[in-house]
Amino acid sequence: MSKPIAEAKFYAMTAEAAVKTLQSDAGRGLSGSEAKKRLGVYGENRLQKGKKTSFAKKFMLQFGDFMVLILLIASAVSFAVSCMQGEANLADPLLILGIVIANAFVGTVQEAKAERALEALRTLSAPHADVLRDGKRAVISAEALVPGDVVYIRAGDVVPADLRLLESMHLQAEESALTGESVPSGKSANAVCDEMCSAAERKNMLFSGTGISAGQGAGIVTATGMQTEMGRIAAMLGDEETPDTPLKLRLRRTGKLIGLLVLGICAVIFLIGLIQKAEPLEMFMISISLAVAAIPEGLPAVVTIVLALGVRRMAAKRAIIRHLPAVETLGSCEVICSDKTGTLTQNKMTVVRCAGAAGELNGQDRDALLSAAALCTSVEGGEKLLGDPTETAIVAAVSDWERLQKQRVKAAEVPFTAERRRMTVVLRTEGGYRVITKGAPEAILPRCTYVLLNGKNVTLTPEMRAALSAKNRDMANDALRVLAAAEKRTEACPETDDAAESGLCFLGLIGLEDPPRPEAAEAVSECKRAGIRPVMITGDQPATASAIAGRLGIENKAVMTGAELESLSDDALLQTVQTCSVYARVSPAHKMRIIKAFRRLKLVTAMTGDGVNDAPALKAADIGCAMGKNGTEVAKNAADMVLTDDNFATIVSAVREGRTVYGNIRKTIHFLMSCNIGEILVVLVSFLLRTPTPLLPAQLLWVNLVTDSLPALALGSDPPQGDVMRRPPTARDSSAFSNGLGFAMAAEGMMIGALALLAFTVGRVFFDADPMQPAVGRTMAFAVLSLSQLVHSYNMRSTGPVLGRGMFKNRGLNISFLICSAWMAGVVVFPQAAALFGSVPLTLTQWGIVAILALLPLPICEMQKRILSRTAKVKNMTSGVKKRVIFNK
Ligand code: ATP
Repeated sequence: MSKPIAEAKFYAMTAEAAVKTLQSDAGRGLSGSEAKKRLGVYGENRLQKGKKTSFAKKFMLQFGDFMVLILLIASAVSFAVSCMQGEANLADPLLILGIVIANAFVGTVQEAKAERALEALRTLSAPHADVLRDGKRAVISAEALVPGDVVYIRAGDVVPADLRLLESMHLQAEESALTGESVPSGKSANAVCDEMCSAAERKNMLFSGTGISAGQGAGIVTATGMQTEMGRIAAMLGDEETPDTPLKLRLRRTGKLIGLLVLGICAVIFLIGLIQKAEPLEMFMISISLAVAAIPEGLPAVVTIVLALGVRRMAAKRAIIRHLPAVETLGSCEVICSDKTGTLTQNKMTVVRCAGAAGELNGQDRDALLSAAALCTSVEGGEKLLGDPTETAIVAAVSDWERLQKQRVKAAEVPFTAERRRMTVVLRTEGGYRVITKGAPEAILPRCTYVLLNGKNVTLTPEMRAALSAKNRDMANDALRVLAAAEKRTEACPETDDAAESGLCFLGLIGLEDPPRPEAAEAVSECKRAGIRPVMITGDQPATASAIAGRLGIENKAVMTGAELESLSDDALLQTVQTCSVYARVSPAHKMRIIKAFRRLKLVTAMTGDGVNDAPALKAADIGCAMGKNGTEVAKNAADMVLTDDNFATIVSAVREGRTVYGNIRKTIHFLMSCNIGEILVVLVSFLLRTPTPLLPAQLLWVNLVTDSLPALALGSDPPQGDVMRRPPTARDSSAFSNGLGFAMAAEGMMIGALALLAFTVGRVFFDADPMQPAVGRTMAFAVLSLSQLVHSYNMRSTGPVLGRGMFKNRGLNISFLICSAWMAGVVVFPQAAALFGSVPLTLTQWGIVAILALLPLPICEMQKRILSRTAKVKNMTSGVKKRVIFNK
């Protein structure tokens, strides 16, 4: 098929005509070879992400950075001034330009690497499609769909391409993304629409990217990728950029502020200089030095990389991040609301108890009850049972499934929904019809008039109802999931759901065991240690929920049901969520109210979900977690994170990773800023003391861009400190400088500045022939500044002492230490490089002094940390530790 089919109006044709136009076969689908051919013609079925920014453009964009711009302007001005004075000094500006270009290049490569890592993750969470090819159904990547493919869809799916329906059963699609219509619209394969109708009116079409809210059906692909309705809109809107994380935004703002501050200081220095009648060129050089010293050039790139690496590590631990800001939010997570079935439990159910009006059921009575319930399922297959775990467990417990399967001729069916909590089938029998209903006991008992007692249908008395309810509670208290089954015989097929589900005869109760996941209890206690409150939200009944919560260690003194929750006002609910951690018989709409209450309390909340109806709550939560295995595509689309193993413990390990990432970003900021403060001080103090400048701009830039960046990157992937999960969560809007970080940075900056100035003075006074031409002093200051910062990078590894406590455990940091020290030595030792940086060779004694001064940050910080931790301990002993109390655990 070579002609583009985008113009054909499939909605105005019959289904057969559409199949013919698309040269396909409704019964067999396309052949594999034809699909391959069409893929060549139409391309992959995905939306183009705008135009990809080319490497060159990304490179140029690096120069748009505010801080880099200041540098470039400053060096251009210095060049102009030197020209005006008739001594065109090209070396300095060229060197600055060279280093800025090298930095931009490294930044571009790193950004591209981070982008590739994220892109790879996107394909991991890419949607799939259930397609008919060569007469066989297969699940393939949605990207491989081509026009003419026959695709099956059902409730919960996201439509993978534009489809003309071929079959439909109670099909409803949620198309608000496309049409703005928030109510799901009914769809039918039989409709033939007017040629002039709008997309919202095309009842026989499904559109790519919209969600199926109910029913099932099959359709033929009419358009893929950018040819779809969604693609056309995407083309109009252009690229949707990845949002910046809150931390990055804050850093960018801080960066701008530092830039402006530096400009201000430069202006003041310049003024003072002019009053003191200093050389204008010298003033400019000092200003540039200051700009170079103050601006943390490497910071934005490092943060991007640290985030991307974190996301990759999380993916390896089965948590796929869909929105980058979620990585940071995870670190501040304070409440995790989790489903029970499958997330906290194994979703491996077995029938362990059956009971009827006369008590426990065994033998034939038990089999009769289970057989009736098994007939009321959608389970397929023989050897390997396919279907919902609750239903397969019932089928697995019956004695003769093969015979039953043959009897299961459904005349009508009312499917199970979380809201109705029951399912009904009407089976055709020889004499008429047999209606069987199964579901939550409280959803079945009120619909029963009779009860099966000793093989006979007898009228259900209030006492019997009470006894059955008590039996149900008894089973639920044993942590069992309880289902009831009921039936009736009719001559005619009931016409409405109500008619089918009334006047039933109660058959019995089925108790299923679903053991907790072995790792869940440990994850729950880890949460509590980390100041995170685990909350269980389940569709199961209160007693079952409470029993399972108890086994897992989730606080279960108070259990609230969906019905109770409905009767509460928003303000009353606000009080409730502060103490209640188990919610039972909850439907998706209730989840939304719970989330809203937590948000009003300003608690950062993670929420799990799998169904179509969970999507709003997933979107409203700070961290929406969708189930990768059993979740619907709609839920995954709405989530910030997809758990590929549907496991509660995975959320907890993602939180640990989030905290590590946040901690590492703080380490990086701490390191880079304390180094920069040191550099500013060196320049400022020497200016105020009116000594020659100890560090030339090129030297500062070298230290800032080259020898600082590698350790900063290595710190970004530091292994977590053993105690990340023993601390309370960081407040969502806490500044990157909070918790005394600002003070520590200033103090350590002073230390580094003082060491460099000391080296400068020693060199100048004892080794330089002319103290006004302090070549040795400058070289020593340069070496001490750079090497002491490398040593200082080890102090960052922990807020506590590092000596003898795994100081060298970060291999990346060790390697960067060696490389950067070698570079530093090279710049001093090799004459050509030395000439560029204005440094001179040092004697052994001078190197010795440099080494001693450069090593000092380690013992100094170590001592400070030990003293601080001792005073903190004493304070705690006398005043008692004050912890942030968010809730009772
Ligand atoms: P969650 O996953 O949110 O922890 P859940 O999966 O246990 O909850 P639902 O699937 O909404 O909750 O089930 C609620 C109740 O409906 C169950 O306790 C059970 O009594 C009943 N039920 C569950 N599955 C079926 C089914 N296939 N047919 C009939 N009734 C069912």
